[in-house]
Parts: sequence; C-alpha cells; structure tokens
Amino acid sequence: MREQFGHADFQPGQWEPMRALLAGRDAIVVMPTGSGKSLIYQLPALMFDGLTVVVTPLIALMKDQEDKLSACGVDVIAMHSHLTDTQARDIHERVGSGQGAILYLTPERFKDREFFERLLERRVSLFVIDEAHCVSQWGHDFRPDYLTLGSVARRLGRPPILALTATATAEVRRDIARQLEMKDPHLTITGFARPNLRFEIRRTVNAAVKDEEVERTLRAREGDGVIYTATIREAERLYERLRHDHPVGIYHGKMAPGERKETQDRFMSGDLGVMIATNAFGLGIDKQDIRFVLHYHFPGSIEAYYQEAGRAGRDGDPATCALLYRVEDRRVQSYFLGGKYPEIEEAARVAICLEQYPLSTPVALTDLANQADVPARKARIVLALLKRHGLVREHRGGSWERLGSQLTSVNLSEDLHDYEERRAMDQSKLRAIVRYCQTTECRTRYILEYFGEAVEPGWACGNCDSCDAMERWEERATTDRASTDRAAVA
Ligand SMILES: [Zn+2]
Repeated sequence: MREQFGHADFQPGQWEPMRALLAGRDAIVVMPTGSGKSLIYQLPALMFDGLTVVVTPLIALMKDQEDKLSACGVDVIAMHSHLTDTQARDIHERVGSGQGAILYLTPERFKDREFFERLLERRVSLFVIDEAHCVSQWGHDFRPDYLTLGSVARRLGRPPILALTATATAEVRRDIARQLEMKDPHLTITGFARPNLRFEIRRTVNAAVKDEEVERTLRAREGDGVIYTATIREAERLYERLRHDHPVGIYHGKMAPGERKETQDRFMSGDLGVMIATNAFGLGIDKQDIRFVLHYHFPGSIEAYYQEAGRAGRDGDPATCALLYRVEDRRVQSYFLGGKYPEIEEAARVAICLEQYPLSTPVALTDLANQADVPARKARIVLALLKRHGLVREHRGGSWERLGSQLTSVNLSEDLHDYEERRAMDQSKLRAIVRYCQTTECRTRYILEYFGEAVEPGWACGNCDSCDAMERWEERATTDRASTDRAAVA
C-alpha cells in the first residue's frame, strides 16, 4: 500500500470494511468528508482481477481522484458528461478492450446503451456508490438516477457493493441498503469526532442579547469566521448593524451570482474576516483556517448543523462552534417546515384554479399560486404530482398547461401521504437539534451518538460548555466536601 499510495498506516475504520469487501460482503461506510473513504475501495480494487466501478455524482471529485490515482500509476478511467466526443469514444474503447482497474462514472452514464453494453462484457469485482445518501428520498440530495443502481449492480453480475456517505441517519442507512438491494451489509460509522472543535451553546433570551453576543464574539475573535442566520432578512439586518465597525461580508441565495462570487473570493483570500450568511454559503468553501462558526439561529437538523459548524478548523487547529440558543427560534424552523409541503386542500385549490383555464393554455406558476392563495413552492409540488399523473405539462419559464379536465378527480392523498411522512421526519430532526441545545450532557457525545458512532460509556470530550459546567460542578462538590470535613474536624 505504501508503494502505491504513500500511506504507511490505515485510518481508523478503513480496514474493517476492506476486509468485508475482500471476503465478498457488502459494506456501508459512514465517514465525514476528508477522512480517507476512497482508500477503502482503491486498495481492494488493486487486489481484484476485475474492474472496480465507482459511481459518483460529483465530476470535480472524479477528476480529482483520477489525477491522484494516475499519479500513483493506477490505470484509472473517468466517464462523465464533460468529455469531448473523441475522449468519450476513446474511453468506450478502453473499457471494451479490458483496460482500467478503476472506472469512475456519474449515474446518468448507465443510460448510455452502447457504453453499458461494453461494460457488461467486463468482469466487475466491486461496485462502489459514493455519496450514497443520494439514493434516499429522505435525503437532501435525492437523485432519481440513484434508484436504478440496485438493478445496475444485478446486471453487472452482482459484485460486492460498497456504499459511502458522509451523512446518514439510521433511516437513510436502511434506505440505502434496501434501494441498493444489499445483503446484510457490514456497517462502519466512524471519524465524526473532531477534537479541535469546541462546541458551545450560549443561551440568549432575546434578540438584543444575541446581538451583544455577536459583538462580543467579533471583538474577541482571533481569526476568520462565519455567522449563520436562518433567514436572509436577519442576515441583512446583522450586516447593516455590523458593517461599520467590523470587516464583515454578506452571502445569501438572493444575491446575484457575480456578487456572491466576489464576496466569497474576498472571504477566501482573508480580505473579509467574517461572513454573515444563510445556509446558501458553504458548498465548495474550502477555507482551512476558519476559527469560529457562530449560529445566530439553530438550523433544522443536527446534520445541517454539523455540516455548517464543521467548516471551522479544517486545518486541525482549535476552533469554536457556538450556537445562540433561544427556545422561540423553533418557530423559525417550524415556519420553514410548514411551508415545505402542501396540505390536501391546498392541492385541491391549485387544481381548481388551473381547471378554470381552457385546455392548452400555459399559466404562470406565480399567477396560479396567487389565485389559489398557496405559496409558490407548494403549488409547484402539487403541479409536479399532477404531472406524474399525466394531467399537466410544464413549459419553459415555469408555466403549466392542463392536459385533461377533472384535475380534482385524481386522488392525490396517497402522494401527499408521502409528504406527511417527510414532515414527520423533519419534525423529529428538529426535535433532535432542540435536544442538542438543551442537553446537559457532553455536546460532542450527543452529536457522535446521533450519527450512530459507538462511544465508550462515560466518555466526554472535555472541550464543550457542558463538559466545562460538569467540571466546575465537580470542583465545587470537592471544595464543599473539603470544607464540610474541616468543619467536622473543628
Ligand atoms: Zn463535551
């Protein structure tokens, strides 16, 4: 291994799934990004005679791996939509003629019939699915193309399957195993602990106290940081409040792409010390030296929180992840949840409104939403469901045309029931983050257990506000005991 990859040792959690795969078992590995997941298939890939097929949705990541592996002398092929025709033909040839030890491809590539035929001629020793949570419709990044991967694996002769992900709750893990038709997969969950991150909950009774806390954090800051708010409005308010006294920038989804890029570049270069942002900020942020991430509101789930907070301290140096907790903020998140999926009577209102337009007349989504008095986001879901039943057609630019009459006769309650389940799931995630804010136990422990990582009984991180409180309490108890003893002697 050292020869080909330059590693001398395995990271924790790498060896066991490798051994399972080499023994012909399926495996699911849940590890954070950057903790060495790729080695789990790359090493077995070199030991197998046949081809290792790696499905990943991220072309950038694919190119990255291709460069790294080629540099190590591994025969690697990457097949994606950014290739020229000549390059694609060349790759077809290479796959067809039995070259390559590892083949990377996006899930859409399996739809290319000619290519798939060639792949079927190969012996596939290992089938790897990266970002496997995309298979789950509960996941944020659900990708319909992932649903076919179970049957793709069967057609490839059903080699052992390895599913890799950085985020998967128990439900999502079950979903991954079911959708990919995995057989009793070996499960590894590890690497979530980030000892250099200090987690803190700061109780704040109102907005004024929160604002003071933000000011205090900015005055005391050592290094760059991010302040996350739940809404654009709050981000703008904070920005206006702070921009005269502090080197702050703002980033949210309603800004023009050019503006976003400019402010992001300034933050990356260290020109702006602090970014005030909504959750739109983060994907592709690769700044290693972020010293603090402050959440003005708590996000909707532990997954989201850990992802955002975890952008701090990528360089391994100490960093603080603080959250300004106020129980009323739950309403902010509940509001988002309430606005996410349509109720049955909202669905009916949208259908009735559309029925009032003649056939083959495209209607703008916003008009329809206004007339039905339903938020556009929900109206869109209703139309998507009607489309699934073949009753409407979508036009470019977000207008919709009905294809039949009696839109209301179709029973959408079953489709909407799906959303009921999602709503319940979202609610339980929200409860979990509220519990995180309220718990008196070690914050890190709570997070690790949430992700399903095994934690030794009695273990605590010693680097969070709960651990501090516990330590103070114990010190006081010792002092009290000592003075009681002295009193007894006297
Ligand atoms: Zn702790």
